[in-house]
Parts: sequence; C-alpha cells; structure tokens
Amino acid sequence: MSGVSVWIGVDDTDSRHGMCTTYVAAVMLERLAGAGARAVDYPHLVRLNPNCPYKTRGNAAVSLHIVVDAAMLGVVRRVVLETVEELAEKGFEETQPGVAFLVGGGVSRRLEEFGLRTVREMVEVDEARELARMEGVELVGYNGGRGVVGALAAIGCPLEKYTFEAIAYRVRENWGTVRRVDPESVYMLQSCGISFDSLDPETGEIRVTPHTPCPVLAGVRAMTAGDALRGLGMLRFLEDVERVVVFKTNQATDMHLTPAKISQLKPYSSAVVEGVVRSIPWTIAGGHTFVIIGDETGELTCAAYRPTGRLRAVVRGLRPGDRVRAAGGVKPKEQGLTLNLERLEILELAEVALATPPRCVSCGVSMKSRGRDAGYRCRVCGAILPSTAAVRRALPRSVRVGVYEVAATARRHLSRPLALSGEGF
Ligand SMILES: [Zn+2]
Repeated sequence: MSGVSVWIGVDDTDSRHGMCTTYVAAVMLERLAGAGARAVDYPHLVRLNPNCPYKTRGNAAVSLHIVVDAAMLGVVRRVVLETVEELAEKGFEETQPGVAFLVGGGVSRRLEEFGLRTVREMVEVDEARELARMEGVELVGYNGGRGVVGALAAIGCPLEKYTFEAIAYRVRENWGTVRRVDPESVYMLQSCGISFDSLDPETGEIRVTPHTPCPVLAGVRAMTAGDALRGLGMLRFLEDVERVVVFKTNQATDMHLTPAKISQLKPYSSAVVEGVVRSIPWTIAGGHTFVIIGDETGELTCAAYRPTGRLRAVVRGLRPGDRVRAAGGVKPKEQGLTLNLERLEILELAEVALATPPRCVSCGVSMKSRGRDAGYRCRVCGAILPSTAAVRRALPRSVRVGVYEVAATARRHLSRPLALSGEGF
C-alpha cells in the first residue's frame, strides 16, 4: 500500500455526564475517510487500567491506524484535533483529553510494553511524554492533558488476543434519554449464542445498553467482527441509529492480569496471586466478604464486595489450608493492600476435620477430654490415651475445586468471562 502509515490515539474525551471516546473516534474515522485516508485495521478500543483512581467509567481509549498520501498529513492532523475539540466534554476538571500521532513507521517494542503496562498498572504523564519524545510521537493534550497517557497507550497496546464489539450510536437529539431497544430482541440474541455479555444470566439484566448519558445506543461483543455485526443486526431498535462501528478490543482477554508474589504487588495494579488461605473468612455489614491468603512472601486480604454476587458464598466457604489462585485489582486500604477479587480458583481443598473423643479399648465407652492437647481419659477404668487418638471426622465442604467469577454486572471489561474460556486462567 502506498502512502504514509499514521497511528492516532485518543483518550479521556468523556465525563460522567456525557460523550464517549469511541464516538469521537468513530466520527473522526468518517471524516478521515472523507479526506482520503484508508483504514488499515478496525479501530482499536483499548480498555486501560481498571483500577485507576481517576478513570471515567470504563477507562476506554481508542487508536486508529490509517494510511494517507504524504500531502494529506496536515489535513489529517487538523481533522483529528478539530474533532476532539468539537466533541470532547468541556468544563469538567476530570476530563483531560489527549491525542497522540505516530507518523510513518510501526509500533516499537518499547511502545508495546508501555501500552501493556498502562493496562496493568499506574503510569505517569511524565513517563508518557518522555517515551513519546524518544519514539517521535506527537502528543497533544487539553485541559491538563492527562489523556495523552491513554492516547499513547492505545497506539502501543498490542492486540495479540482480541475480541470485537459492534457499537450503534444514537442521533444527537436522543442523547441523555432512555434507550429504546426491544428487550425480546436481546433475549433472542442471547439465545443464539454468537455474542457474550449481552445479558446477565444471574439477574436477567440487559447488558448491551449502557446506563450513562453517552452517545452509545448498544454494543454487542463477540469473538469475531462478523458475529458482533450480526448480533447487533439482531437487535430491534425503536429509535434512530446514527452510525455503526466495529472495534477490535482487548475486552475479555485478561490482558490486565499478571502473576505476582504478594510482596511484589503495587497499588492500583491488577494481579493473579497463588497462595494458601490463612484465615477464616469474615463478612461485614453491607455483605462484603473477606479472607486472608498468604504465600512465601507475605499475606494479603482478598475482598469480595456485595456486587460480586455469588462469589461471596465461595469465599465464605474457604478454610485455612485451602490452596487458591486469586485474581483482581490491588487497592491500598487501611489494613494494607487488598485484592478486590474478580476471579477465584480453588486449586486444592484442605481437609477440615472435627476431632471427637475415642472409645476406651477396654470398656467401649466414649472417653473424656482432659483439656486441649492433654489427651483422653476413660471415666470407667481410668485408661488414658494421647490426643492423637482422637477420631477425626472430615466435615463436608460447601465449596469445590474449580474457577469462580464475579457476577456479570460486576465483571471488568478486560476480564475474560468463564463462559468463553471454559477452563482456568
Ligand atoms: Zn475404660
């Protein structure tokens, strides 16, 4: 293909009150096509660190990879910046749009690593600026410009594993009003099995429509672009659709999760920790459940909050000695770092037994305990047995070896639903 390769990254154009960076990118793509640009790939929808304390909603950044004639580079830059300036939310301190341009050449290994780290942990603006300078990437920031981090990361993030989402956008006059999608058509979509996350099977809640005042009407997630589009086509909309765009995404890929020892955990990162249960689980007011696990480097509190649904019952069923693999977001709390569970794999269950007094060998009557670790004594003949003579009765466990995840409504965009993987992680 002749022409110059251009990567464009965009992030942080939305607020809690409106807009969506995917919409900004969708409009941008249409305008760039009008200026003669050819898309090399689907636009990338990259979900960044889900534990970032100042994210807006799903923490989504977008990158576009296009090819244009060298003479059009100035037009491309102007179209991109004008679209961001026109559509990005204004007047909110927390909305700090960022744009990145990588012109000519490909995405370096260093940029890829930066992209991955931005999904997995906290990355500072200074680091993004320094890397951009070394890589010859132009960054443009607005209102503080923290979004340049995500814009650069969206270009860098390698989508080796990926899924697709087909998104339908609303016409502007409907923004902020209740979305009109025939629920029957969502049930139909769910039953044909080509999409994922369309419906929460536990609660029946429809998940193709967001609940925010943003321009998204509905999004259908699938393993292929064709299925995502076919799935979106099955939905019956009772309002006008402005446009439809298919994104290639890191959603449902587990890209954010990396194995770590407890002593290596960093605040606001995501991790998978293998360890042994060290406490009896406990539940506090509000229904949040906790348990302590440990490995050879330290101990960690794991939390299953109320929205995680049935995962809490699994945590409550754990007992000291159980071997588990826990995945989630690392949050700093008063008691130290806490892992907010996204998924829990029970690898091995400890035997939980109840020690009961043995019967006297001579008399056959049940012996009496002489106190903790002091053995047993027969009330009839006075015979004594050590505490090791106790009869151990294994207690039934309420949980089994297996992988458990949070309720669909509490699942991270990045987390791979168990229904998709069908095995451990
Ligand atoms: Zn006896």
